[in-house]
Amino acid sequence: MTLMDEARRGRVPPVVEAVAKREGLDPAKLSNLIASGTVVIPRNARREIEPMGVGELLNTKVNVNIGTSQALDDPEVEVEKALAAVESGADTIMDLSTGGDLTYLRRKILATAGVPVGTVPIYQAAVEKKLDSQGLFNALEEQAKDGVDFVTVHVGVNKNSLERLRKDPRVMGVVSRGGSITMKYIAETGEENPYYAEYDYLLEIAKEYELTLSLGDGLRPGCIEDASDRAKYMEFIVLGELVDRARVAGVQAMVEGPGHVPADEIETSVKAMKFLTKRAPLYLLGPLVTDVAPGYDHITAAMGGVIAGMAGADFLCATTPSEHLDLPTKEDVIEGTYVTRIAAHAADLTKPGVKEKARLWDLGMATARAELDWDGQFRAAINPARARQIRHRRGVDTETCTMCSELCAIRLAKEARELDNGRQGKPAG
Ligand code: SF4
Repeated sequence: MTLMDEARRGRVPPVVEAVAKREGLDPAKLSNLIASGTVVIPRNARREIEPMGVGELLNTKVNVNIGTSQALDDPEVEVEKALAAVESGADTIMDLSTGGDLTYLRRKILATAGVPVGTVPIYQAAVEKKLDSQGLFNALEEQAKDGVDFVTVHVGVNKNSLERLRKDPRVMGVVSRGGSITMKYIAETGEENPYYAEYDYLLEIAKEYELTLSLGDGLRPGCIEDASDRAKYMEFIVLGELVDRARVAGVQAMVEGPGHVPADEIETSVKAMKFLTKRAPLYLLGPLVTDVAPGYDHITAAMGGVIAGMAGADFLCATTPSEHLDLPTKEDVIEGTYVTRIAAHAADLTKPGVKEKARLWDLGMATARAELDWDGQFRAAINPARARQIRHRRGVDTETCTMCSELCAIRLAKEARELDNGRQGKPAG
């Protein structure tokens, strides 16, 4: 019986209890959300990890991608990146490897990361040049057996959605790696996408291993000009139908979204995705709010991430400064993780159900700032080491900082308050 089946029988399994405790939510309420499919807990039946939930009434989560490419395939470096991302607060890791020994790296990440791990099985099938139905399902099952907790499957890229793309051409076409592999397979063979055509079999495998499906946005827009077209929405209609079928089968499913979207279209896009998928947990890659900032795309993605989170996105995929340019370094991964966590937290400050808890964190920082309590500020900082390093980089350790020094507004205002209180006979403070 899957977690969803158990929740539907009114039970509260231990993993649900654990997530409820972590989120400060009533376990029975969380169990109902899992039963309805609006929250998922990605955890393979074979893995013993701290469970983590994604979806309604939960904090916005952050995924970090790592993985080799065919140009750079040092598995130890990728493991280091994964561990650095977890250390920096990533909630999940996705291994997107396409170079070297994929099985070795996947197993090593599963053994060391300690958080839910996701993969994209079509990459393995493509690398092994086994892109037929058997090769695709073998890759999926092998990864599920290894203990992978969630998989991206580009099931929405089918003949129908590609027809919409043909009739409404884009500047950048298809920019998803899995989407383009699937598109080429359909063009070469004339066959339907096997993951779509044999979706019931895919659900059987997912059910057996308690594998959470992340229904990939293979037709996500790759530039602002392509942001809101028919192909994208056609894919969401297909994904919505496939979410329904996953729920009937008792399989947890979330949905992935774009991509590159101008700021004023993000809310509509998120709400449409939520509507079409009956409030399935929404996992976004960005959205990047402009195309013109290579080197800063962790920032363009974070801007979009805040707006998307405010509109209902549940899960943000970290973007690094290397996006569109190079395989990220470990330092890029750390930077991308923190910047995406900031976006997730900024969204949480506005989200019903989580904003009260999120605001306590900011209140802790504000209280420490008002007292010029530097240790308190470091403790409340999202990246304490970075805050401490900048504060001390000139060797100065005065009560105020070097920005305004003797004209420190906080100190002057505090002194003014104390004088005022003294005149009125009130205690200082
Ligand atoms: S010196 Fe200026 S910037 Fe620094 S703590 Fe005081 S008010 Fe803030």
